[in-house]
Amino acid sequence: DEPPMVVELAELINHLAVQKDAREFRLELMIEDLLATHAALESAKHDALTGLPNRGLFHELLNQACANAQRKGQTMALMFVDLDKFKHVNDTMGHDAGDELLIQVSQRLSACVREGDIVARLGGDEFTVVLCQLDDKKTGIQIAERILADLKTTFSLSMGCADIGSSVGVSFFPHDAIQPLSLLKNADVAMYQAKEAGR
Ligand code: GH3
Ligand code: MG
Repeated sequence: DEPPMVVELAELINHLAVQKDAREFRLELMIEDLLATHAALESAKHDALTGLPNRGLFHELLNQACANAQRKGQTMALMFVDLDKFKHVNDTMGHDAGDELLIQVSQRLSACVREGDIVARLGGDEFTVVLCQLDDKKTGIQIAERILADLKTTFSLSMGCADIGSSVGVSFFPHDAIQPLSLLKNADVAMYQAKEAGR
């Protein structure tokens, strides 16, 4: 038989070990909870169809990008992209085909930019692209032209093929505006002018 002191000590150690396990378990639950909250907050910032940043997150990212470009003295291009006659795809091939096309548009836009650039879906068939760290305005124009050409290329959907096009408006930081909202407004106005001029 163990002396009473040793028995008491063993009981105490056992008790502490149980307490520690309970605390660890509570901590694990709290971490799981935090991760779930974080995932929910993140997904609320993205468009459910394309997975691109949504309008709210786009504004946050644009603010950051402008502040960054200002600090480093860099040139940026903001493009406002709206698909031409997109409703026609919905009307003739169905809403699901329209959705499929929007997903492919998001993939084509993302393929035109570099890591660190921004592609977002503001809603409907409106997308924005921000080219950060541009060498010059000419490079921005070239990429806008590539986007126009890429979106003109036939889309292959499960329902069949679809041909659309897009109207793109571009504004440059800091040449056209320094404030994020003005930059966006200018690109929007330029996009509408492109629409008016015959899409
Ligand atoms: P425009 O050439 O003037 O740009 O005309 P448009 O046919 O492209 O139409 P507009 O840009 O004015 O409107 C976009 C349309 O996109 C409106 C709506 O019917 C459709 N749309 C908006 N969101 C979704 C979506 O999530 N999925 C699908 N399939 N269609 C959408
Ligand atoms: Mg449109």
